This record gives sequence, structure tokens and C-alpha cells, in this order.
Amino acid sequence: MKYKQNWNLENIFPGGYDSPQANARLKELNQDLGTLATELAALDLAKDVPAYHGLSDYLKHRETDINGLMELNVFWTAHQSADFNNTAIGPKLAQVSEAFSTFKDLEISFGKKLAEINDDDFKTLIALPDFKEIAFNLTEDRKLAAEQLDEKSESIINKLAIDGFTGWSTHYDTIASQISVPYTDDNGKTQTLSAGQALNQLTGAPDNNTRKNIMSAYEKAWGSQEAVVGDTLNHLAGFRLQNYKLHGTDDFLKHPLELNRMSRQTLKAMWNVVEANKGMFIPYMDRKAALLGKQTYDWQDQTAPIMVDGYESKAIDYDHAADFIVANFRKFSPKMADLAQTAFDNQWIEVEDRPGKQPGGYMEEIPERQESRIFLTYTGTPDDASSVAHEIGHAFHYSVVKDLPEMRRSYAMNVAETASTFAELVVADANVKSATSVGEKINLLDTKMNNPVAMFMNIRARYLFETNFYKERLNGQVTPERMDALMLAAQKWAFSNHLGTYHPHFWASKLHFYIDEIPFYNFPYTFGYLFSLGIYAKAQASGGNFEDQYIALLRDTANMSTEDLAKKHLGVDLTKPDFWQSGADLVKKDIDEFLKLSDDLVH
Ligand SMILES: [Zn+2]
Repeated sequence: MKYKQNWNLENIFPGGYDSPQANARLKELNQDLGTLATELAALDLAKDVPAYHGLSDYLKHRETDINGLMELNVFWTAHQSADFNNTAIGPKLAQVSEAFSTFKDLEISFGKKLAEINDDDFKTLIALPDFKEIAFNLTEDRKLAAEQLDEKSESIINKLAIDGFTGWSTHYDTIASQISVPYTDDNGKTQTLSAGQALNQLTGAPDNNTRKNIMSAYEKAWGSQEAVVGDTLNHLAGFRLQNYKLHGTDDFLKHPLELNRMSRQTLKAMWNVVEANKGMFIPYMDRKAALLGKQTYDWQDQTAPIMVDGYESKAIDYDHAADFIVANFRKFSPKMADLAQTAFDNQWIEVEDRPGKQPGGYMEEIPERQESRIFLTYTGTPDDASSVAHEIGHAFHYSVVKDLPEMRRSYAMNVAETASTFAELVVADANVKSATSVGEKINLLDTKMNNPVAMFMNIRARYLFETNFYKERLNGQVTPERMDALMLAAQKWAFSNHLGTYHPHFWASKLHFYIDEIPFYNFPYTFGYLFSLGIYAKAQASGGNFEDQYIALLRDTANMSTEDLAKKHLGVDLTKPDFWQSGADLVKKDIDEFLKLSDDLVH
């Protein structure tokens, strides 16, 4: 093997998860947060310009502490992902969370201090050389702080949120970990699957019956727990809405849009284009059903592999996938290729296929070392290879902003998915081009369709459900039966009423509805996908200087509103349909090719 399949965490802190250095670092940071608090208390920004020197020192100190906390958080999260049943790591992460909560209180009080500065002085301040780089971020903090309650009230809310809000999110994890899905296969053998195992099978099993049977068992399993899951979602949303109300608003989209630095018009323009183009998926769904040998396209067929033309997808070994990724990145950006090579060579990536690992994948930045670590499980499918590319895309994004202050590195979820999806597109297209038979090409094109199917229909259904659920939750608790009905209606609308069977308990089975930190964990995905399609189109059109333009865009992702970012770097207006339509057109091209190539197979 050319590349090691395990990551190196020892060079972050040596000695495994219970590293004495990591433990000591946490202790040190906790003490240091006390010093930071004292420095902040002494900072009187409303007084005069001389106080700004103090601000500069405070920000440097803040940077050290937040980087330190992030590094510890990643270190223990990484150990936990790689050894999922190790219960000794949870308490360490809880300690980091507590330190983060202390830090969060400081951030609120910092914002308050910014809000106290009068407009003219603030203008002077952000023009000073020390603060120019973070002028946008300070302005944003100041504006948000002005809308906050007094420090004491905000601190009380934060403390009560530990058990009253975040607690519901972790409670959901507990419920999900106890779900068991009894499943009887065609040979009459009954086995009990965990929710994760069942999900893997129902989204990826090549056999139609297996997917169908697991799907109905999965629906039933979540249905049997709908009372407790329904309570969980009601309380999580109830806390959130009450918190919004305390801050003077019933508008549950205000905070999600602010987090993503995007306007309501942009969101509307994007969904309008998705709605206007949803018809193009109907022939695709019909064709895929036919290729699968089925009458209807069902919920569980969205990512099902098709095996046409006697073609069976062959496993790609990790070394080959890695070299393929590097080579194809190089066609767009040598720097992106070099970063990928570094990640493979220096053991930044954990991909080994073994039991005891957390499902899913992610990239995390290691701010003190200015490196990344990537977690996933590689089994050899084309989908796995594109997941590796996806996570390296995230790592590339971090690598081009790693020298910037933390505020300039905290880009929102919608643009965070840009570099990753772009990387995925590069590899998916190269994959399709490298196909050696029609059968292989059809299969790879279909794999490539997984993204648009998710972004235009599946995620749209989640968004529609969540919007309607929150609307009704404003007036009181929503029953599980009602949530089923809302989810079914959302799926029917998003999938053009074209599925044979639906997944009404999706509101219970999908973790994303239960994430406490980020509300509406859905539309930013669709945004990021379509946004990166626009960049990809530009990359193909521009001769030579794409790399510099791309890096300039990524460096600005936490430096302006999303609308300004698109205007400055792509020359497009996100509040108008044109840009979004050009993304939809690229999807249409793939659908047309898929239909053309597979025509002979079904007629
Ligand atoms: Zn991602």
C-alpha cells in the first residue's frame, strides 16, 4: 500500500485519547479564559481611540484561546470517531463544551462593548490597520449584539440551554442509538439492524427487495418511537422559538438566514428556480426505475446503484482513488492537487474500513498546526472516492484561509459546502469521462445524479417540512400524526408526486432536524451545490487564471454577505433567477445524456 489508511493524531497530542499533554492544555486554557475575561472587563471601547490598543491585544489573546479550544475539540472528537464505543472520551468533550460556553459568554460581552461605541468612532476604528482585515466581522458582531438582551439574560439563556436545548439534541442521539430494525431477508433469516446499518442498506443495497423490505421495517421502527421523538422535536423547536420571541421576533428564518449571511430574496430566488425545474427529474426517475427493473421509483431508490449492461462496479483501491483525485485536481488547480497530496502523504486522513467507527465523514481544521484531519470509511465504491474528494475540498478551503484571523475563517455552512462540492464535481466528471463502456458510463452518471436528486428534491422536502412544522409549532405542540402528514405532503410536492412509496417518518429518522447549533440544516446544502456548479462552469470556461480567482473567492467567504461574494467574484446577482438557472441547466445536460445513453436498454 502506497498511502496509510489511518490518520496521525499523535503529532497533535501524543499518548492517545488520554494524552497528558491534551489534559494539561485544557487545564491551562480554562485558567487562561479567566485572564481573558479580566482583560475584556478592563476594555472600555466607548471611551476613546487609545482604548483600541487594548482591543488589539484582546483580539490576539482571544485568537490563541479559541484556536486552542478548537484544537482540543478536534483532537477528542477525532479519537471518539475512530473508537466510537469508547465511553471515556465523552466526558472530555463535555469539558471542552463547558470551556466553549465560558468563551461564548465572553463573546456576548465583547459584542456589547462594540455596540456601545458610537457610529463615528466605530467607523474610525474599523479603518485602523489593526482591524481593517476584520472590519466586516466586527461590524456584523456589533449589529447582532445590538439586538441581544442584556449580558446577564443572555448568559442565563446559555446556561439553561445546556439542559433545555442542547439536551434535547443529545437525547435524540440516545433514542437513535436504541432504534433496532428487525429485518427478515428473502431466505427467511431474521436479523436485527441498528438504525445506521439499516440506513446503509436501504440507501445502498443493489437488490430491490432488500431495499424495499428494509425501508418498510425502517419506517415501522421509527414509527414505533414517534411519541418520544415527536416530543424531542417539539421541545427543541419550542425552546428555539421561545428564544427568538425573547429577542423580539416570531420569524424563524431570520436567524438561519443571518447565520448564512444571505437574504430572503436569495433564498426565494433559489427555491423558485428549483420549483420551476423540478419537472426535468420525472423522466430521470422513470428511467432509473426501469433500469432497476421496477414499475415505480420509490423513496429507497434515490441512491440505489444500478447494474446495467452486465456491468458491475468494480472496487477502486484507495491508492488508485487517491492518485486519481490528485491528478484531476491538478487540471484545475495545482495548489489544490498539492494540498491533496500532502493530506495523503502525511496521514491527515482516516479511511480504514473496520468496525467501531462512527458512520459518516467530516473534515476538521487543526488551527494551531494549520493542518486538517479528515474522517470517513473507504469501502472502494465511486461514491466513497467522491466523499474523499469532498472532504479534501473542505481541507483546501481551510488551507487558503489558515493564515487569516479566526473571524475570517468562520465561513457559514452555505459557502462551506462550496469548495467540497466543487472538488466532488471535478472527480465525478473525470470519473464519467474515464468510463470504458456504456454500462459503466451510465452507472457513473447515475452516481453523479445522487447530488442533484438530493439537492433539488430530498433536501427541498426537508426545507418544506421544517418551514411548515415551525409555522404550526408557533401555535403549540404538533402531534406525530400531523408531522407525518406534513412530511408526506412535503415529499409529494418536492418529488412532483412521482414516488411509488414515501417516507413519512423521515422527520424522526433524519438527524439533521435535531441539530441544536444550526437551525434549518437543509437549504445551505442546496445553496452550496448550486453555487459550486456556477463556479465549476466558470472554471471550465476560464483559461488558465482560474486558480487565483478561486482562491480569492474562498478567502472572502467570511468577509462579506453571500450576495456580495457572488457579485464580486462571479459577477452574478443571487437574487435573480439567471445564476441559479445556469446550475439547473448543467443538471439537465447530465439527465439528457443519461436518458440518451440508456435509451436502448429499455426500449
Ligand atoms: Zn461537506
